[in-house]
Amino acid sequence: MKIFVINAGSSSLKYQLFEMPSPQPVCSGQVEKIGGSAEIKHVIAGDKPLEIKRATSVVNHGEAMQEIIGLLTDKTIGVIDSPDDIVAVGHRVVHGGETFSEATIITEAAKEKIKQLFSLAPLHNPVNYECLVLAEKTFLKAKQIAIFDTAFHQTIPPAAYRYAIPSKYYDEQQIRVYGFHGTSHKYVTDKLAKHLGQIPSSVISIHLGNGCSMAAVKDGRSIDTTMGFGPLAGLVMGTRSGDIDPSVLLHFAEHYKMSFGQISALLNKQSGMAGFTGTNDMRDVRKLINSGDKQAIIAEQIYVYRIKRYIGAYAAAMNGLDAIIFTAGVGENDRDIRRLVCADLDFLGIELDEEKNQAAREAVCELQVAGSRVQIFMVRTNEELEIAEQCYQLMQ
Ligand code: ADP
Repeated sequence: MKIFVINAGSSSLKYQLFEMPSPQPVCSGQVEKIGGSAEIKHVIAGDKPLEIKRATSVVNHGEAMQEIIGLLTDKTIGVIDSPDDIVAVGHRVVHGGETFSEATIITEAAKEKIKQLFSLAPLHNPVNYECLVLAEKTFLKAKQIAIFDTAFHQTIPPAAYRYAIPSKYYDEQQIRVYGFHGTSHKYVTDKLAKHLGQIPSSVISIHLGNGCSMAAVKDGRSIDTTMGFGPLAGLVMGTRSGDIDPSVLLHFAEHYKMSFGQISALLNKQSGMAGFTGTNDMRDVRKLINSGDKQAIIAEQIYVYRIKRYIGAYAAAMNGLDAIIFTAGVGENDRDIRRLVCADLDFLGIELDEEKNQAAREAVCELQVAGSRVQIFMVRTNEELEIAEQCYQLMQ
């Protein structure tokens, strides 16, 4: 069953084609800098993967889709005969609000509901919607399926998702915690459950990519998460501040006379690791730390401390802790971050085996010392595969 996965950003379109149930993509790629001097990268999997990379003129997502179809159906390097070969298209949709708690086959009514959520995710949902409509026109025989970043967190109870502000704002605009990275948190906890043969009762999933978030997963269900109404809350990220006292924002406005747009840019794009070091890439931050750069050193301390603080919070929220999972670019690759996060948490039963930590390469690696009460895992995330799997299940 051919399932095409689309992950659209404001100026990018990433895609993967799966022949389900195989977890290996047939091909994958991305169009970046849509609207500017766009670049396309297309990789056909195999023993000797074939990579095509070129600059291209693509002014919008519609043209990007046409480029991709051209590559997929190309006479010499194509992997399908026609777009009609695709049975389902899985779309990553950032915000599902309170409406969507699972993968959803797109109907006119579902499209209308996604439109109503535009105000909750103005940068993402309109683009996701546009790609849904484009895909309907392109893959005429396929079911369109939306997988929401927020869906996994719809099991969070009100005590964790409500803000202590007048109820009118929840009633009128559903101002509450939604949480994001749900597809990744679900994928890695499911993967762990498969690996162990059962899901441990109390799990903390720690997704450390460019965006970072943690989820408290009790008996397979998310009961709390660090991101909130939007993806700014919680952990320190590549360019985002994470938690910050709202009084600081009031001060920015009052003292620096910053506009709404300036505050938004500051917290979303100029903060986090980049705010301290000038780079959001943890590999570059590491080089700075190794050269003794003071800003990079304090940035890492805050980054790690914030994670540890939430580990404590979530162990309390779940009345226990059985396993923690590190995932995404930093969580999977940065052994120093894993070591620092796990340090001095033995009172909670977290004891990392440094040799196993150094050696971790496989898709699922167990990293605790023998006798550690809490199991520590590195699990490689794969959001595109999770989307394809959810589509496959829906199509059965
Ligand atoms: P996203 O999907 O949110 O864009 P990723 O999960 O790809 O992010 O993670 C990107 C982050 O992972 C970057 O900060 C990058 O520096 C970091 N990263 C990737 N490889 C390594 C590595 N070997 N060591 C440390 N950090 C890494």
